[in-house]
Amino acid sequence: MTGALLADDASGHALLGAEVRSWLDAHWDPALERSAWLGLVVEARWAVPRWPAEWFGRDMSDAQARVIAAEFTRAGAYGTGQDRTNLWANTALSFGTDAFKREFVPALLRQEISMCLLYSEPGAGSDLAGIRTNAVRDGDQWVINGQKVWTSGAATADFGMLVARTDWDVPKHRGISFFFCPMKQPGVEVRPLRQITDEAHFNEVFLTNAVIPGVNLLGEENDGWRVLQTALAYERSAMGENARGPRRAASNGPVAASHEVDLIELARSAGCLDDPVIRQDIARATALRSLNALNTARAKAELAQGTSSPIMSLGKLAMSRILHEGARVQTAILGAATLLDGPDHPQADDANFLTLNAYFTSIGGGTDQIQRNIIGERVLGLAKEPEIDREIPFREVRRA
Ligand SMILES: Cc1cc2nc3c(=O)[nH]c(=O)nc-3n(C[C@H](O)[C@H](O)[C@H](O)COP(=O)(O)OP(=O)(O)OC[C@H]3O[C@@H](n4cnc5c(N)ncnc54)[C@H](O)[C@@H]3O)c2cc1C
Repeated sequence: MTGALLADDASGHALLGAEVRSWLDAHWDPALERSAWLGLVVEARWAVPRWPAEWFGRDMSDAQARVIAAEFTRAGAYGTGQDRTNLWANTALSFGTDAFKREFVPALLRQEISMCLLYSEPGAGSDLAGIRTNAVRDGDQWVINGQKVWTSGAATADFGMLVARTDWDVPKHRGISFFFCPMKQPGVEVRPLRQITDEAHFNEVFLTNAVIPGVNLLGEENDGWRVLQTALAYERSAMGENARGPRRAASNGPVAASHEVDLIELARSAGCLDDPVIRQDIARATALRSLNALNTARAKAELAQGTSSPIMSLGKLAMSRILHEGARVQTAILGAATLLDGPDHPQADDANFLTLNAYFTSIGGGTDQIQRNIIGERVLGLAKEPEIDREIPFREVRRA
């Protein structure tokens, strides 16, 4: 049934809720393998209810999608709402050709394909338009040469969303194209990098005559900057909503399940819940989280009107502050005990890990400073930062 067939009002929502409940009663089994369960959700068109009916969706409104999500949450099931959360599938749907979408979108929704982001380079991070990885058309495929860095999950990825330069004779934003690059091929070499948290989630990626089929070009040739803006907006939105919890909590790639440490319980167990400074700290950290939840709702409403919202930057920036502040308060509560570490001292281990890992959100997906620039320019309407190389052919831009 598509959204158009159900009234988008209280009685229609009640009917929809009943339909979802009875489907979940008949199908939901927590013991099912993840991809088998997601296969059922996709087939029943619950995965992306806001998407068009011809592409696995139901043409439903936000309100209807929320009814479905509420029923899934009530049952303890997962897999719906991917029209908001699945960065890869949303980018593919927005910019892939029909042939590409038929091949990739169902597998991305079933989460059978593992993905990574091949954006940053040693000389291009905040200024992503300065990428120098080169893509040359060769018949019905593309040949890629260059280097990427800080690529989360590259060691296990099947495909990477890649930005590469396809025209060096136009200004930097206009000569970039966006690809789905197969990672498991001889032209792709992945070298892990060790992080300050002693983990190795991200990598250097060397591309040497790597080959990409022509159908894997998303959007038009040289129009990759536009595709990238949409993909970044989805990524920042996810980072503004969720952040990784302690080391021991489940982790799942660049954006992992949210896991908040209960600061009040921690202060009680450490015997400092009556300390007025700690109480103020906890209140401030809690207020930041609540405000961010409201802000995220506002960003989602904006996203529903178009593909990219600068308001997303507010949520990600706020989450960065929440994580640094939360880790600081945890450290203040535990005091000298945070000098201890490791599995024998789990509370201190959490506080120390979260202190170091807070930089994940304040750098990954665009740094706090860049988010502030975006807010200044696109939300507050302040003067644009001077960019001397914006209008000259990229070939003439001096290398740092
Ligand atoms: C945990 C994590 C995961 C990541 N995962 C990926 C990934 O999967 N794929 C990927 O492609 N990249 C990934 N990155 C890379 C990330 O996107 C870049 O690190 C980030 O965009 C910053 O680029 P940079 O490191 O080159 O720093 P630079 O751009 O060199 O910036 C250095 C400093 O200068 C500041 N700065 C730069 N320009 C300006 C400006 N115009 N105004 C004010 N300040 C400025 C920055 O804020 C920063 O403090 C990841 C990074 C982290 C930390």
